[in-house]
Amino acid sequence: MANTSNYKLSAAVGPLKYNDILPYKTQSVSTTNDFLQKLIEILLDFVRATNDRNEKILDFHHPEEMQKLLDLKIPDKGVSLQQLIHDCATTLKYQVKTGHARFFNQLSCGLDIISMAGEWLTATANTNMFTYEIAPVFILMENVVMTHMREIIGPNWVNGDSILAPGGSISNLYAFLAARHKMFPNYKEKGIATIQGQLVMFTSDQSHYSVKSCASICGLGTDNCLMVPSDIHGRMIPSELERLILDRKAKGHIPFFVCCTSGTTVLGAFDPINEIADICEKYGMWLHVDAAWGGGLLLSKKYRHPRLSGVERADSVTWNPHKLMGALLQCSTIHFKEDGLLMSCNQMSADYLFMQDKLYDIRYDTGDKVIQCGRHNDIFKLWLQWRAKGDEGFEKHMDHLMEMSEYMVKRIKDQPDKFYLIMEPEMVNVSFWYIPTRLRKMPHSATREKELGKMCPILKARMMQAGTLMVGYQPDDRRPNFFRNIISSAAVTQSDVDFLLAEMDRLGHDL
Ligand SMILES: *Cc1c(COP(=O)(O)O)cnc(C)c1O
Repeated sequence: MANTSNYKLSAAVGPLKYNDILPYKTQSVSTTNDFLQKLIEILLDFVRATNDRNEKILDFHHPEEMQKLLDLKIPDKGVSLQQLIHDCATTLKYQVKTGHARFFNQLSCGLDIISMAGEWLTATANTNMFTYEIAPVFILMENVVMTHMREIIGPNWVNGDSILAPGGSISNLYAFLAARHKMFPNYKEKGIATIQGQLVMFTSDQSHYSVKSCASICGLGTDNCLMVPSDIHGRMIPSELERLILDRKAKGHIPFFVCCTSGTTVLGAFDPINEIADICEKYGMWLHVDAAWGGGLLLSKKYRHPRLSGVERADSVTWNPHKLMGALLQCSTIHFKEDGLLMSCNQMSADYLFMQDKLYDIRYDTGDKVIQCGRHNDIFKLWLQWRAKGDEGFEKHMDHLMEMSEYMVKRIKDQPDKFYLIMEPEMVNVSFWYIPTRLRKMPHSATREKELGKMCPILKARMMQAGTLMVGYQPDDRRPNFFRNIISSAAVTQSDVDFLLAEMDRLGHDL
């Protein structure tokens, strides 16, 4: 990026203060524009740098050192417009470029330009999503997009209900709350005493930690969120689920909720929905599908099946457009097959906000369906992005990400001396070890895995210091540290995948 001091306001505008522009000075439209144009220049330079493969992904500094590079203190007297522009430029200078084509570190990667344009507009409109009164266009968009997403889940979902939530974790919590409300409608008014027995929920040992946190937030206790064992691919074992249900039933407990993960966070595994749905039907339990990560593949005819087959049998589905679909953070959705549950579960009928005698049809006020009051507008950027791409464009996007991942697996297999593929992935999570020169002759064993695991943090540190590549690593309950590469950015091409593997070797061969 350009040097931060290159962003110069004119000598007349630079020294001005916040109260020299709108809304304080009504005559200051052109000064206000000068300030905002300069900011836009900074933003556009960041977009350009993000898309320039010769630019570093990050300029790493340890927190103590970073603190010295920045002036973050809140002053007694406010700073000038020029200083604010400088502050903005400095902020982006040290920000990790998560949209860079060599950023493979997170489930949310990429910088979708249309979605970003939407987020800019959203920020400018600065409205709250609780009532039609103050967000008429956005509320209608929300209806259209949520209905479209439910149609994609299954034709029997069209008359269901959905809401956008601040993240998949909260979406999962909504599913839990609705399930408990459905089974124990008196809980809302009478509380915990209405449930005569211990509620128990089930999720796989590979599921996202937010599922377990529902048990702690909602009074079950984490001991009553049972972690169902998974197979070597990371998929829940249905017979183990049934065994655990029977085990708890025998103790007099009330099994009521099963979370089936479609795209696990680490391995990208898909639990077998149909088999789990059979068990839920047999025991009268709520089936939630956590497709926060894998939901995007619903848009691909080629990759939807068998991964998400049976999803229409669920009662609720979490689906995060801010992950695979590349919508800007945050954008998370929760869908219900049955309409009305969200409202009856969460409605508090605040007199000051949700008056019953409004000018318009108050069914368009969505604010009382949620446990928040105010809600950020997360719909516009997704609506705009979907308008731009159409269903066809999103399908191509999904297929591209999957094809790039398949290419990466192929390239890893082509170089068995340097890379060890841990398993054939079902999604864009590619799990592998990098093998430095000294370990290449060693036969693969638990001892070698331990050594390879030790390399991961060192190689990751080298990547961050070089600033050329970011790939995540973690251990799991079966193995020490390993790399988990994520291709979730539309920017990634075959040559980026080639670069990724070559760069790991360049940085790590001597370890
Ligand atoms: C990312 C993820 C979540 C949590 O979503 P946030 O938006 O980060 O809260 C939940 N479940 C799965 C499977 C995920 O991958």
